[in-house]
Amino acid sequence: MSAEKEALRTAGVVGAGGAGFPAWAKMAEGIDTVIVNAVECEPLLRKDFRLVELRMADIALGAKLFSDSIEAKGALLCLKEENAKLLGLADGEKILDGVFVKAVPDFYPAGDEIILIHEALGRIVPPGKLPSSVGVVVINSETSLNIAMALCHGLPVTEKWLTIGGAVSKPCVVRAPIGTKALDLFALLGEKIKPNHVLIDGGPAMGAIVDPQTAIVKKTTSGFLMLPEDSPSIALKLADPNRLLRRASSACCQCSFCSDQCPRKLLGYPVEPSKAIRSAFTLGESNPGALMGAAVCSECGLCSLAACCQGVMPSAVMGTIKGALAKNGARPGLELLEAPPFRDFRRIPSSRFARLAGAAPYKAPTPYQGPLQAKEVRLLLKQHTGSPSVPAVNSGDSVKAGQLLATPGDGISTALHSPLNGIAKVTGDSVWVTACPAM
Ligand code: SF4
Ligand code: SF4
Repeated sequence: MSAEKEALRTAGVVGAGGAGFPAWAKMAEGIDTVIVNAVECEPLLRKDFRLVELRMADIALGAKLFSDSIEAKGALLCLKEENAKLLGLADGEKILDGVFVKAVPDFYPAGDEIILIHEALGRIVPPGKLPSSVGVVVINSETSLNIAMALCHGLPVTEKWLTIGGAVSKPCVVRAPIGTKALDLFALLGEKIKPNHVLIDGGPAMGAIVDPQTAIVKKTTSGFLMLPEDSPSIALKLADPNRLLRRASSACCQCSFCSDQCPRKLLGYPVEPSKAIRSAFTLGESNPGALMGAAVCSECGLCSLAACCQGVMPSAVMGTIKGALAKNGARPGLELLEAPPFRDFRRIPSSRFARLAGAAPYKAPTPYQGPLQAKEVRLLLKQHTGSPSVPAVNSGDSVKAGQLLATPGDGISTALHSPLNGIAKVTGDSVWVTACPAM
């Protein structure tokens, strides 16, 4: 393993904007371009914008170090055109040797890495393949910052930038110790979870509803949003899946708007929710290929929130089929199809998507509120893709901020470090640290 890979592995650097794939495991040969994803296409999320505003030099440095270590030609810092303008950055502008700005159109979901690679480089990742198959690796802007901190200063990942937004009195971006309880964050900011509202970890469309009593800041948490249960994106998440499937079998009129507007279908991916519904419920034909296409659905929710006029929620059907394929270990060999015409005219602008998802009323200035302190943190041993980290401390041990709490497990894994000076407690799936001001 190269020195850079080992440094990122032991510093606990993982994807800060997605599934938490360890950054060291993305360092592959044959990559010519590193894409730094600061597009943040989901409504209400703003932490990547603030990060670029406040820490652009470090983000660019991380991108350069990562790019140099894998002998790539360079890196592109990708932002929405509107945000690039707000930050005074021009498309193509050089930030650092080999690191350039790429401004991409403002539509949903421009931050989906398959879509972003096409917008930034005009390349299409074959269905079911990784970005490395077209010579690209995609990292989040915060991951890039963490890479710079790890490689230049030996600093481990102990804090997370995230948006606090939705139906809160003062939406903001904060830095919080990893493992901070969501309720503690809300209390520190003077916010409360309102009745008939839910808490989302992530964006309104692709984020997950979490229990406010147990939710904690993870290395992958891009935001905590409080949203009303009856807003369209939340109603979709709360709906009974069996009821959704029954509705799809009876209410789908086969207009095919969902397939026509699917952003992956518009690139030529074999993702066609209307045909999958027709096949799943034998509405006229059996088409196993249409079912298999669900394996490369991104579950972006666009077809449910911005295309279907019958309340069918096709993304839920695709998610169910995708889950069944994964459960059965099906890895269908999928081919790229001819892309439909008029892609540019079928894309859904972010502002329209925010309106349709019910997020527009909560759009508000989201200033940076600085770092927050926590009295107790809970660090999950598995908050990344791969095998869990292995505790390296015992209950009752005194630990210092930045100290190693857990070593990487076998294979793809990463380390965990304490964000606080305090006393450790090891439980089945976590290491807790209670702050001790005297230390
Ligand atoms: S959720 Fe719908 S729009 Fe999004 S990729 Fe899947 S089928 Fe396409
Ligand atoms: S948009 Fe809705 S009604 Fe039309 S085909 Fe898709 S799921 Fe059926």
